[in-house]
Amino acid sequence: MIFKDITDSNFNGIKISSYHEFEHEKVYYYEDSNIGLKSLVAIHDSSKGPAIGGCRYKKYDSFEDGLNDVLRLSRGMTHKNNVAQIPFGGGKAIIFKEGKKSKNLLQSFADFLNLLEGKYISAEDIGISLEDIRFIKNHTDHVFDNIDPGPYTAKGIFYAIEESIDFYYSESLLNKTISIQGAGSVGKKLADHLSNAGAKVFISDIDKEKLDHINDPNIICVDDAFTFQCDVFSPCAVGAIFSKSSIKNLNCKIIAGGANNQLQDLSVANDLYENGIIYIPDILINSGGAIGLTKDIMHRNEDETELDLRNIASRVRKALIKSQKHSISLQDVLKELLV
Ligand code: NAD
Repeated sequence: MIFKDITDSNFNGIKISSYHEFEHEKVYYYEDSNIGLKSLVAIHDSSKGPAIGGCRYKKYDSFEDGLNDVLRLSRGMTHKNNVAQIPFGGGKAIIFKEGKKSKNLLQSFADFLNLLEGKYISAEDIGISLEDIRFIKNHTDHVFDNIDPGPYTAKGIFYAIEESIDFYYSESLLNKTISIQGAGSVGKKLADHLSNAGAKVFISDIDKEKLDHINDPNIICVDDAFTFQCDVFSPCAVGAIFSKSSIKNLNCKIIAGGANNQLQDLSVANDLYENGIIYIPDILINSGGAIGLTKDIMHRNEDETELDLRNIASRVRKALIKSQKHSISLQDVLKELLV
């Protein structure tokens, strides 16, 4: 077993603290070769409290690919928590997917969390389910197993979309067209809320089985939500989907979705702005899951939590007003919120 603070090390040929995405407090590596677990935890900022963030179980092309992901995601968690005024720090874990996800692997990840002694508290993310987290909870206290964050994230994004439609058209969601990429935990629930509000909802998923479970006649499955003509495109699948070239295929007026790190690089926000597309940064609207996960620890009841979710929309309105007033993108408005 290897447990190592690699922050100041040269690890796998990379001087971690000189890496271009690094502006972190700590990066830890854990390896359990008997089980086949290789994992990283990045703690971006714990000045406001223990670092929280999901654990992603994913196949990475290289160590650097995983490092890059965990650094970007953990920084995003700090920013997300700060914007939503959640008094926790930002962190993230990744597990390099190699063989099969097993109970032994999850238990070994719990051992890693125990070695971190509560500096990082984990929830689920892509590849790790609430069921997995509940199993891990048998072996460590340092996980959030109180709720499935997806529906909370979806609710916050729903309010944000409703607000942005009201801002843009001074109209309700009735008959507005919303195209969602990804029918997972967030996308599916978001589709339900939008359909209930009278929107015309279109949804795509590369996993066709996810679409088989949709039987609401107001939710139509499409091959590719990205290019679909709509009022709002909502990316709820994977990150890095917007690049200088890919955005030429967009057919929407507003972008508002849950996926983390949607821009391949931040300059794409300006390209979207120049193209007349309102891009609402993920950090501004996908904090519903973190709000739900921390509600019990912060003694927030359901009514207060609902208010916290609705406040996401209030922040979106304020940011939209500022963007209009100063003729700047929402990404630039967000920069001011983060200082
Ligand atoms: P999920 O794994 O439950 O669902 C993602 C879905 O996207 C899957 O069904 C997958 O098949 C599909 N998908 C992958 N690539 C696709 C593509 N190119 N086109 C269409 N569909 C594709 O994940 P989730 O919990 O719903 O989260 C969605 C996104 O939101 C992720 O990027 C996640 O990091 C982010 N996020 C989630 C939460 C949360 O509370 N779950 C919170 C914040 C951010």
